[in-house]
Amino acid sequence: MRTAPLLLGPVAGVAAGAAAVARRVARFRPLEAPVPPADASGLDADAAAARLGELIRIPTVSSRDPDQVDAAAFARFRDRLAELYPHTHRVLEREVLDGGALLWRWRSGTDRPPLVLMAHHDVVPVTGQAWTRDPFSGAVEDGWVHGRGAVDDKGSLVAVLEAVESLAAAGHTPARDVYVSSSNDEEVLGVGAQQAVQVFRDRGIEPWAVVDEGGAVVTGVFPGVPGQIAVVGLAEKGLLDVDLVTSDPGGHASSPTPDGAPARLARAILRLDAAPSRPGSTTSCWGWSTPPAGTPPARTGRCSPTPARCDRCSPRRWRGPAGRRTRWCGRLWRSPSSRAAARATCWPRGPART
Ligand SMILES: [Zn+2]
Repeated sequence: MRTAPLLLGPVAGVAAGAAAVARRVARFRPLEAPVPPADASGLDADAAAARLGELIRIPTVSSRDPDQVDAAAFARFRDRLAELYPHTHRVLEREVLDGGALLWRWRSGTDRPPLVLMAHHDVVPVTGQAWTRDPFSGAVEDGWVHGRGAVDDKGSLVAVLEAVESLAAAGHTPARDVYVSSSNDEEVLGVGAQQAVQVFRDRGIEPWAVVDEGGAVVTGVFPGVPGQIAVVGLAEKGLLDVDLVTSDPGGHASSPTPDGAPARLARAILRLDAAPSRPGSTTSCWGWSTPPAGTPPARTGRCSPTPARCDRCSPRRWRGPAGRRTRWCGRLWRSPSSRAAARATCWPRGPART
């Protein structure tokens, strides 16, 4: 019989591979990445949460239709910021750019390129959404702040301003200029951030670093990595809005046209869904763990016991010849959150005529 040797070969190979993986998993120890605790002196978490709640209660809702924007709410928000953060507004210079974007400058007395901290203060509407609490209550319950903008992105703005406020109150002078940039129309692809960029260009300023929202603390995204992972976005993805418009000659609803407008529209949506944009080339390096500063990229996958080293994953490999690592990467890229981070978002929406 020649069958047994033919079968035993692959079986033995699989067993050897499984044993190698098991050995690796058993020996695996996450990379030690001790992070010294942040200096939280001068910060009051409860007071900061209350301030965030108050800012959430001001409904700075964005809209692409200027007539739908409550300009008074945005003005109230700006005024309240000045009252809630008096030292920031005493020490830093604040500009209100055309339309309402905010730009603070904290002078250092040096000519080093500045640090720019960004967080927009507009939010998306809540119409038609089911909330367990009033989305503009800003309620603080059991250590959580509830409401529209708590995460995206008034929370970030409050975190930045709390840090600046405590340092300004203590008489701190930064080692380089610090700008705080807060746009009022980020959610509708507005011009607030562009205006801030134009200000820098006009003044010949090239930032040393820009830190904006993005990423999250997630679980279960990278195969084989237990616990929480802080995802740091290193590149900005694109965005594609598609308006699908179709039409029919019309007629009575009792006698619809075969392959009419709704059917063609549905087909177009399915084709879009089946052809997402390719992951960007800049996403070929993913730092999913938090290695100590100076750790080479090749070690950033040390938080995973699996054969996959995420830092070796790239869209090109995923699309290339099949392999163990490629399959793990495939799982990574199939995760909705990973896909969203790596690709231009394309989401069919109205208006559509039939
Ligand atoms: Zn946001």
